[in-house]
This record gives sequence, C-alpha cells and structure tokens, in this order.
Amino acid sequence: MSEHNDDAEKEKKSNEEAANSSSEQEEVEHSDMEKIRKYLAQMLRLSDSSNYDEQSQQRVLRELSIDGVVDYIKENENCKIITMAGAGISTSAGIPDFRSPSSGLYHNLEKYNLPHPQAIFELDFFMENPEPFFTLARELLPEGFKPTPCHYFIRLLWEKGLLLRHYTQNIDTLERMAGLPPEKLVEAHGTFHTGRCLKCRAPYTLSWMKEKIMEGVVPKCEECNEGVVKPDIVFFGEMLPERFHFLADRDFAQADLLIIMGSSLVVQPFASLVDRVRSNCPRLLINKEKVGMQDRLSRLLGLRHGLIFDTRSSHGGRDVAWLGDCDTGCQLLAEKLGWGDELKELVKKEHERLSAETNAETSKD
Ligand SMILES: [Zn+2]
Repeated sequence: MSEHNDDAEKEKKSNEEAANSSSEQEEVEHSDMEKIRKYLAQMLRLSDSSNYDEQSQQRVLRELSIDGVVDYIKENENCKIITMAGAGISTSAGIPDFRSPSSGLYHNLEKYNLPHPQAIFELDFFMENPEPFFTLARELLPEGFKPTPCHYFIRLLWEKGLLLRHYTQNIDTLERMAGLPPEKLVEAHGTFHTGRCLKCRAPYTLSWMKEKIMEGVVPKCEECNEGVVKPDIVFFGEMLPERFHFLADRDFAQADLLIIMGSSLVVQPFASLVDRVRSNCPRLLINKEKVGMQDRLSRLLGLRHGLIFDTRSSHGGRDVAWLGDCDTGCQLLAEKLGWGDELKELVKKEHERLSAETNAETSKD
C-alpha cells in the first residue's frame, strides 16, 4: 500500500516538473519568437508593434465585462458605436448558413454535378452555368424571414444616435427590413436587395428578381435581352463594394466602441476590421465562442493583432467576450442600458407589421 502511495507521489512530482519545465520552455520560446518577430518586422519594414500589447491594453473600461461596456456607453455622451455582424445574427430568423456545405442546401444541387459546392459562388462558373445559383437562391430568398431582436437592437442604437455604422457580412437584407437606413449600413459582401445585368449593367430590384427566381427561371435582362441578372452579392473572386473600403477607412478611426456579433471573424478583409479602431477603443464580442484572436504566425510577423481577451498586462485591457447567442446578448445589453422593454416592444410591433404585410401580399396573389 505504502509502495503504491510512493509511486503516486513520484508520478505527481514528475508531472509537476514536466509542467514547470514546459512553462519555462514556453517563456524561452516566447522571447525567441519576440526577437525573430522584431528582426523580421525590421527587415520587412513592417510596423514594429513591440509596444502594441501595452498600448492596446490601455485601461478604458472600469471592468472587463458587459457591465464595464455599459458604464462606458453611459459615461460617453455621443459614443460612436460601430457594429459588425455575421451569419450568427440571422440564424434565429431561420436563415441557413448557405456558405456551409453542411447546411443541407447543397443536396438539391447534386443533379448539377458541381466541381465543388463553392463553385456556385464563383463568377466564372456562374457565367457558364447560372442555374445552380438560382436554384439555391430560391431557398435563400428572404420570404417570410423576420429580423431578429439583435437586428432591432442595432436599430435602437441608431435611433439613440449612437450608431456610427453597421458593417454586415450578411446578404439577407434583414438589416434593411429592420428599418436601418441604408446610409448607416455597409453590406460588405453585397446584398440580394438589388441586382444588375452582367452584360449591360442595367439595374434590377429584389422584387423583380424574386418573381423570376420563384418561377424557376434564370432572370434575363429586359434591356439587352441577353445578359443574366445577378444579385449584387459578392462572389468569390469579386471585389468588395467600393463603399466598404471608402467607409471603413473613415469610420474605424473615429469609433469609440466596436461591437462584433455572430461572426467567426475568419473571412478577410472583413475580419481584420477589428484591428482598425484606435488602440483605446473597447471591443465587445457577442458570440457563441471566442473568435478573432491573433494566431502565432501573425503575431510573429506583427501583422494582425486581433482581439485580446485574456490579457496579462497590468494596464487592464479593452476587449470583452460575452458568450451566448446574439439575441440573448443584445437583450441583456439593452436591459442594462435601460432599453429592455423598448427593445421587446419594437420587436413585437415590427414583427406584427411584417406579418400583416406578408398576409396582405398572399391574399393579393
Ligand atoms: Zn442587359
């Protein structure tokens, strides 16, 4: 028995030693990495960001929590807020994540023998064969979808005069449907809201395209009678809208607070927008999991800084992650700001209005 205890004791000790030496090793590795990073940054004339962590961790929030962010908003009159959003803010509206091959949407496309599922969103493929895209679009088109509490929270920010701009990766037009004015909106990956003839560039509306798509025909231009009308969503290999670059250059440097919701922050250049706010601008992530942190390679090259949630700096920090679904997070934030009931009222009123509109349209048909 005592022998057994000895063994256990030995094992425990050796585990501790291993743990110690691995953390020492990490330290050494870290300082080596730091040297290499500085060297590379110098050689490549990249910005030397050795002081970045210190600067970026300026203490701007009373505490690193949603309460700290709420106090910060209340204390900053005219707080300029930028919101950034991805597919996660629309999932509770029932909109499938169409870029994910596991969404089930791709099953209908088997008959088209796509080289790979993403080919649907490749311009070259679309020019040759637009049919699979429009088959998918039939299932995606905003029909009976309603904006979520999260969308209406963004609208409330605007109504309160706090929204500098909303940047979205979504093409579902739910922001517009929620009543956010177009000038407050940057649809980074384009939108279904409008479309254009690929040949003569004649513009078309969503309702025109929708009618064709629901009939199951490829929308053809009525001006030139030749071109296919493509919704203004950004395909792979296409440039992002000019509006995105123009406004991002202007907005991010002025923001007092960044709120990122329901995005995995992996698609570029959208993801690196988080690096473009000032170093003392707090950043709140509302998402199912922590995302957007710097990876080792970017750190080594001093390229992307990303979000820093678990700071070791004595200065505190500025990034807060609230983990959960976007609607719950936004309702909580609204409540803490004293707008809880207002948000619930707005959602109720707007959903009733949209249902009435849909019913009126259906009975008209
Ligand atoms: Zn045309």
